[in-house]
Amino acid sequence: MSGSERALVNQFHKQGVSPAPLLKGGRFSPKNGGVVGLENIHPIIQTKTFEGHKNPFCYPVTQNSTMDPVDWSFDQLSYFYQKVNTICMSNALGVVYNPATYDNRSKKSTYRGPKINQILCGKFHCGRCRPLLKYRMKLEIENAMVEHKLYTHFVITTEGKKYRDKNDYVDSYFDMSKSFNIIRTILSKYAKNQGKHFTYICLVRSQEKGYCHLHVMTNLYIPKQMLKDISKRYFNTGFIKVKAIRNRKRLSSYFMKDAEWYIPLGRRHYSCSRDIDIDMSIDDIPEDCMHIRLEPGVSVVDQVYDQVELNYGYPPPFDFLLQHFTTVSRCVDHHIKKPVRSLSDMVDNLKKDGEHVYIDKNGIIVWVFDNVLLDGH
Ligand SMILES: [Zn+2]
Repeated sequence: MSGSERALVNQFHKQGVSPAPLLKGGRFSPKNGGVVGLENIHPIIQTKTFEGHKNPFCYPVTQNSTMDPVDWSFDQLSYFYQKVNTICMSNALGVVYNPATYDNRSKKSTYRGPKINQILCGKFHCGRCRPLLKYRMKLEIENAMVEHKLYTHFVITTEGKKYRDKNDYVDSYFDMSKSFNIIRTILSKYAKNQGKHFTYICLVRSQEKGYCHLHVMTNLYIPKQMLKDISKRYFNTGFIKVKAIRNRKRLSSYFMKDAEWYIPLGRRHYSCSRDIDIDMSIDDIPEDCMHIRLEPGVSVVDQVYDQVELNYGYPPPFDFLLQHFTTVSRCVDHHIKKPVRSLSDMVDNLKKDGEHVYIDKNGIIVWVFDNVLLDGH
């Protein structure tokens, strides 16, 4: 891991809760108050892609269609995933107070003033948080592949037409989960017979029309015929592919395809054997910071003021107070200013870390990978 990579991960790890430190030069916007214009400040999704005629929610599927997410079409789910989660960085999550610090890492110690930051929701289905989570996951996977010597990668897809005619894409996640449990039981025995342990990471992904497929990375050598036999005997899957992992970074980049992360809400995006520790928590509040919970219906400024003063003995940062008294300060529920966070800054940082990334026309960060990866044998 390069120095800048580590720095980025550390920032993400320690201060993921407070988005401002994630972006160097992040600052409060004087122009945009409240939620209006949020999409402009965080152009993760370009609005033109989501014009009314393309919004799958504009056309209810049936007269009686409920808005229960289990009943969403894959288009509706995809649309939901690409929007920023309404709770993300909202007052509902509270705010974090970062006291002033002296950064002593360089020879000259630099002073950083106190900050009030909002909190990321940290959900995979949030258009703002997913790029951060994906990158975090990418690094965790790359580390686990080295640490646990995961050198086999296999893919299993949902059964073909016959199954798909009868079953919804949401069903395929339940069925594939059952299938994987069987595979896990059998491979655990297989490993035990060799005096080994079945170590794995299983990624749960969507494919065309939202049906489930699994990517599994493991420490075992697995003959393809063996997986085929398991499938034939206990369930029936679509295609099965087994490959040796030759290029870890290329494989982890392959997992970054955004649409493959649009799986039904409430389903786990990954699972792994107990000996692998994948840490995706981005909601840890750093020790020297304070999480301020906000009650609805009471002035945000008053609440922040009271709690900071009570805990630290001095008032919150001046610029925070200034912003709140120069805007609609009397409004009880008004939102805390969103720090400016630019997607291109994030991409620049990733490029500095040696990632091959660019922003596509929908404002999604795309990892470049080699298409031939899953072709061939
Ligand atoms: Zn979020």
